[in-house]
Amino acid sequence: MINYKGIAINNLLAMGPLKKFSNNDFVPKKEIVEDADKEIENFNAAIDSTREILEQLCETQTAEGNDEAAEIIEVQVMMLEDEGYITDITDMISSDKVCSSYAVYEVGNSYAKMFEAMDNEYMQARSADVLDISRRIIRVINGVEGFSLDSKDKVVLVADELGPSDTVKLEKDCILAFVTKKGSDRSHTAILARSMGIPALVVEDMDLDSLFDGMFSIVDGENASFIIEPDDELIEEFDRRLFAQDENNKELETYRDLPSETKSGKKITICANIGCVEDAKAAVENGSEGIGLFRSEFLYIGRDSAPSEEEQFEAYKAVLELFGEKPVVVRTLDIGADKKADYLNLPEEENPALGLRGIRICLTNKELFKVQLRALLRAAVYGNLHVMYPMIISEKEIDDIYAVVNEVEQELIAAKVEYKIPVQGIMIETPAAVIMSETLAKKVSFFSIGTNDLTQYTLAIDRQSKEIDAFYDPHHPAILSMIKTVAENAHKAGIWVGICGALGEDLTETFLEYGIDELSVVPSAVTKIRKVVRNIE
Ligand code: PEP
Ligand code: MG
Repeated sequence: MINYKGIAINNLLAMGPLKKFSNNDFVPKKEIVEDADKEIENFNAAIDSTREILEQLCETQTAEGNDEAAEIIEVQVMMLEDEGYITDITDMISSDKVCSSYAVYEVGNSYAKMFEAMDNEYMQARSADVLDISRRIIRVINGVEGFSLDSKDKVVLVADELGPSDTVKLEKDCILAFVTKKGSDRSHTAILARSMGIPALVVEDMDLDSLFDGMFSIVDGENASFIIEPDDELIEEFDRRLFAQDENNKELETYRDLPSETKSGKKITICANIGCVEDAKAAVENGSEGIGLFRSEFLYIGRDSAPSEEEQFEAYKAVLELFGEKPVVVRTLDIGADKKADYLNLPEEENPALGLRGIRICLTNKELFKVQLRALLRAAVYGNLHVMYPMIISEKEIDDIYAVVNEVEQELIAAKVEYKIPVQGIMIETPAAVIMSETLAKKVSFFSIGTNDLTQYTLAIDRQSKEIDAFYDPHHPAILSMIKTVAENAHKAGIWVGICGALGEDLTETFLEYGIDELSVVPSAVTKIRKVVRNIE
């Protein structure tokens, strides 16, 4: 038995025989041609055929109601017609006198590398699309059929990489799960796996050579693990989990569009926590009543420089447009401690969780903060934006934040840029903020309690440390008492209060009693909490 750890694209489970999907047939030989013009003609004909294939694929997806898949294929058709890409290929054929499939392969790879090197994560993920298109053209040139599942059994598809056009073409009914070595959770294949509801993992450590068709496997999206040849005991246990997941999902689906209210009619808003635009789509699909926490720092992590104002504006706007009138709470950059971005050159600290993080970074590096605020104020025009500031410990910080917001507003007015001042609130995640909550409530429009950090700072327990896990108790009476106090103080000042830490998935009845107005949880937990609420007297 081998147990690989990976990145879960969703939290779904699957079990069955694996089947390997190989992209090796796409590596063409470098052949020299005599007649370059003829070769360019062949290439142009291949582009036309590829376009037809993709357009047909797009039509089928639209007819089947798979709008998201159809949109992705449409983007591929546009990329296929990209002038730079086509010219680079034809130039290479005529100058190097190489066969068209080799030129497509080389140019495709260099475009993919160029996308990969870009700052923008969305553009990085497009690298898989350009490779996918190039492979498809090469198949057409060489008259090779694409991968097909000549299998009646359902399989766990294992691949080095999987292109989106392959993904949509696969018989959905034959696929139990996707496991790829390469990929990101922003790739189109990941987006499709989410929208198709197919379990998917990215497992970088996987040794593809040691895997063979027919090997039995478990895809565990809840624990991000891929298990090869599990023992009987594990199979039995997993069988039970799969059955339970199926039954549970069917039942939870029925709660998607129901109101979040108790039997006696007490209402609460159930929102979702997200880290990117794709998560927001999952939140809509799961019946979320808004976004309770958009962890904007995920736009800043895993790259070489901070996202530009424009890039951020587009991301916030996209989420706001998805939710219309419903509230979208974007938390300003909460980087530091476990969330790192090397380009910020933050100091090495003895106790990073107690160091330069969250709002402290923004108030120290005002330019960085202003870029984000500008993007937020501009995006606010497109929906019901709420902006939330993390790690607050004092009134002065709120005053300082408002001064920066005011500066940004003046700059936007001077530049005649359209903007709106969003609803502004704070996270309550430090004991100081709890104790000051009566005063702080008079300065802001809402509170959202971050129970993860509140537990860490109140119990003096590092939330990252596995060794002291047993002591980390978010149900500690001190925490519950703090939540109650914060709710009372919020309501006294006439503002709403939510919970966006992980404890929001728990103790629903207690929080309703405290008068908590909103719970924000991972998208997949929205219907689960709604069911709990609707079953409370
Ligand atoms: C929290 O601290 O509870 C919270 C929601 O923020 P994060 O987990 O991102 O620190
Ligand atoms: Mg926090």
